[in-house]
Amino acid sequence: MSHSIISTIKDGTAGSRDAASARPSPLAPASAQRVERADVIIVGAGPSGSATAAYLAMAGLDVLLLEKAVFPREKVCGDGLTPRAVRELITLGIPTPAEDGWIKNHGLRIVGGGHRLELKWPDLASFPPYGLVRTRKDFDDILAKHALWHGARLRESTNVTDPILDERTGAIIGVRAKAMDPDGRPTGEDLVFHAPLVVAADGNSSRLSMSMNRPKRDDRPMGVAVRTYYTSPRHDDDYLESWLELWSRDNQGHRVLLPGYGWIFGVGDGTSNVGLGILNTSAAFGKVDYKDILSRWVDTLPPEWTFNDETRTGPVRGAALPMGFNRQPHYARGLLLVGDAGGMVNPFNGEGIAYAMESGRLAAEVIAQAFARQSDAGREKVLQSYPRVMKDALGGYYTLGRGFAKMIGNPEVMRLAVKYGLPRTTMMKFLLKIMANLAEPHGGDAGDRLINALSKMAPAA
Ligand SMILES: Cc1cc2nc3c(=O)[nH]c(=O)nc-3n(C[C@H](O)[C@H](O)[C@H](O)COP(=O)(O)OP(=O)(O)OC[C@H]3O[C@@H](n4cnc5c(N)ncnc54)[C@H](O)[C@@H]3O)c2cc1C
Repeated sequence: MSHSIISTIKDGTAGSRDAASARPSPLAPASAQRVERADVIIVGAGPSGSATAAYLAMAGLDVLLLEKAVFPREKVCGDGLTPRAVRELITLGIPTPAEDGWIKNHGLRIVGGGHRLELKWPDLASFPPYGLVRTRKDFDDILAKHALWHGARLRESTNVTDPILDERTGAIIGVRAKAMDPDGRPTGEDLVFHAPLVVAADGNSSRLSMSMNRPKRDDRPMGVAVRTYYTSPRHDDDYLESWLELWSRDNQGHRVLLPGYGWIFGVGDGTSNVGLGILNTSAAFGKVDYKDILSRWVDTLPPEWTFNDETRTGPVRGAALPMGFNRQPHYARGLLLVGDAGGMVNPFNGEGIAYAMESGRLAAEVIAQAFARQSDAGREKVLQSYPRVMKDALGGYYTLGRGFAKMIGNPEVMRLAVKYGLPRTTMMKFLLKIMANLAEPHGGDAGDRLINALSKMAPAA
């Protein structure tokens, strides 16, 4: 590839060499425009982008992390971290002591069918026996700073608008961006960045993937979730709480079952994060007012929990949950996808942070190996292994998750599952392991082995 000469990029002479050797792309920058270069450009500094950046910087690559917002910034999320996400934080080297504002949880409390069941996170060799809660405002800031600390270059207020393509190969060789002011308005300054590899970590809508002709797949589950915060005495709950049924009352006082599943997560700062999600396998998907459902459900909760309009500390905000690898291929034409950009949310439980960080870690391993190859062809061969690496890691499990999402989209199946499943603790412990993807990969008990066997048998998503 004429555009991917890493050694020359590193010593700063790539500009002249690239300009001289590459045929001009239709999108190529005007020669007067200053071009900033890196080994790898990462677009988006959420958990997937920052994790990828930190690992690549650790591997000695010159990483440029482009983010349109300015940290600390809010992100619509439930703020809940399962042991799988905590494992990623530990691997990345991020300390999470309580005195720094990390609130620990010991398991999942499931509410439904008149039951409340508390299940401890399993105690396994491969995962810590606890989860955490941390607002995304803090979480993403901490991860971005961690990437910086490891040597990645972070450029905030940089809104990436277009890919720059190599005219001959059609591969991405950089991006164009607009500088933003602190209020998120364009300053009028146009920016150009070049790198032989670009990582799309720009979240669910991934404009960058779209502009590289990688739309969402409609045959994968998709969720929508909304959430808000209330000041509440439940703010320091040490269990994540999940509601399998959301009830309300109609005008005549009759109980009505609302679509979707709810959560209540204590944030530890005086507030609880309360929200709900609906899958597109549900008949109600896209046809209901999610904010209205949240307020109708919350109205039925015990008044002493103080979830009401007076205690609400922010707006109700929502976003999509792209599941089960809904955007593929995860690598092609110089563009590699991590996190929500690659549709990596777990279809069993709507968890996305663990998978954003995990895909960042796996992507960085592949990229570091690729950049150690001497030839462009060798590098490309390694990069093309990334989709297989992701499928091996999560593909079979996500195929099972697709089946699960389809099943629980049927309210009758869900009703029966809640009625007959919840009272059976052993079965629920097994379900918790499947749904939070916490099976011991090697050895473990009969349940772990069954989950691993099913994931292996299922065709990779
Ligand atoms: C209501 C709700 C609740 C959720 N609750 C949970 C939960 O409790 N636990 C959990 O694990 N997951 C949860 N998720 C899912 C989780 O939020 C996502 O899976 C996760 O944020 C994905 O991380 P990411 O880094 O891939 O993308 P994002 O977190 O979306 O980060 C993308 C980044 O890219 C930046 N960006 C976008 N476009 C551009 C551009 N053009 N130029 C430059 N920068 C750009 C954005 O500003 C952002 O910083 C929830 C999602 C929703 C909607």
